Amino acid sequence: MGWAKQKGKQPENRLYLTRMVPLPLDHYLPLLKPPMLAGTKIWNSCVWESREARKNNEKYPTESELKSRFKHYGSWKSLHSQSAQAVVEEYFEAVRSYIKHRENGHEEMRPPGLKNKNLLRTITWKRQGFEYREGTITLKLSRKLNDIRVPLPEGADSLKLPDGTVLVGTPIEVKVKAVYRKRKIAGLEIHVTWDFGVVPLIAGNRVSAYDLNTALIARASTTGGQQLIVCRELLSLIQYRNKTIAEFQQKISRLKEGSRKWKALLKAKRKELKKLERRIKQLTNAVTKLMAEIDAAENIAVSVLGDLGDLRRKARTNDKNKKASQKINQLPYAQIEQQHKYKSLLKQICPDKWSEKYSSQTCCICGTRNKSFRVHRGLWRCRSCGAIMHADLNGANGILKNYLIGHCDMKQLFPLKSPEVYRWDKRWNRFVKVSPRAAA
Ligand SMILES: [Zn+2]
Repeated sequence: MGWAKQKGKQPENRLYLTRMVPLPLDHYLPLLKPPMLAGTKIWNSCVWESREARKNNEKYPTESELKSRFKHYGSWKSLHSQSAQAVVEEYFEAVRSYIKHRENGHEEMRPPGLKNKNLLRTITWKRQGFEYREGTITLKLSRKLNDIRVPLPEGADSLKLPDGTVLVGTPIEVKVKAVYRKRKIAGLEIHVTWDFGVVPLIAGNRVSAYDLNTALIARASTTGGQQLIVCRELLSLIQYRNKTIAEFQQKISRLKEGSRKWKALLKAKRKELKKLERRIKQLTNAVTKLMAEIDAAENIAVSVLGDLGDLRRKARTNDKNKKASQKINQLPYAQIEQQHKYKSLLKQICPDKWSEKYSSQTCCICGTRNKSFRVHRGLWRCRSCGAIMHADLNGANGILKNYLIGHCDMKQLFPLKSPEVYRWDKRWNRFVKVSPRAAA
């Protein structure tokens, strides 16, 4: 059973988790193959209808038009109506994403195309498409077909929190995916997204704050704890990914659209990017895990992430080219934010965000604001109170102070402990504490 990402928008402090269970192939493949093939057929019908419209110079069909047109198809009737509709919705989602990429200058992007008819499509069951009772999910197909029963392992619907509270989840969406290895079906997986409701949080007044920078995450907390997490590996992966994209793009642009070489290159690009994305995700997961562990060890009640809105990204540099390169060579903020949120909730810590505005140019000790006190990227030297510290820790302490008392020139509220430094250890594939000198 694995953890996966949260789904969609949600109200504050509601915990959604997707858990995966592998399904025995010999039993489930015969049951699930027909609906999954039907899914591929519906997808291909969407593609076909759009192509016909284009060929005949007609208006493209809309989502609801296609849904009603397909209603009487045999493939539509081998799925639950919500599952069949979901395929059409996914097609239009892919079209929207294609248009967006095209608008952003990705000329090599192609509209969603036909899939091999033997491909087993991932099928989604929405609320009315399944039932859950006593550990068993019953997946519904169309009314005339038999349901598919999937018993889940014990405890699949429950979650034990650090204080001993056990939350029982309600399933809100189910997906069944085929896993391919070397073009052969290697397995089937059921992904159930559970709504565990609002998490009861730790009562307390301890707060921590994080400042995300180019290659460093700085942490400060009301216990006086200060940490620097060196994320150079993560950053270099991101830079490498951007370089890879640019290189592929350049090669692809020289080839004829639709040619064999062009197709092969696109495929190679997708494969390479998938690999890199996976490694990036592994590292962001490790970073956010460490963040939650440090918070839990200090009994933090609220964990605040410095919110670097577009404002700050722009304010960071005046040079236009530099701006562009900086924006893409940054830590994956959205990914870290999403993981920070659910990992904090799992430890019953309230996740929050707060603006980073001015925190990097204000002395956290005395409250004097002066950009030039940031001597260079890593050093803060306050000429007003004489404080010398790591500039990013000054930033994190600044966010913490702003979160607690707002912008003002009040002095530091509590004594600061000496900083701890964590860096990625390749041998162990995790972050380890090192001597502070290593951060320099
Ligand atoms: Zn100062």
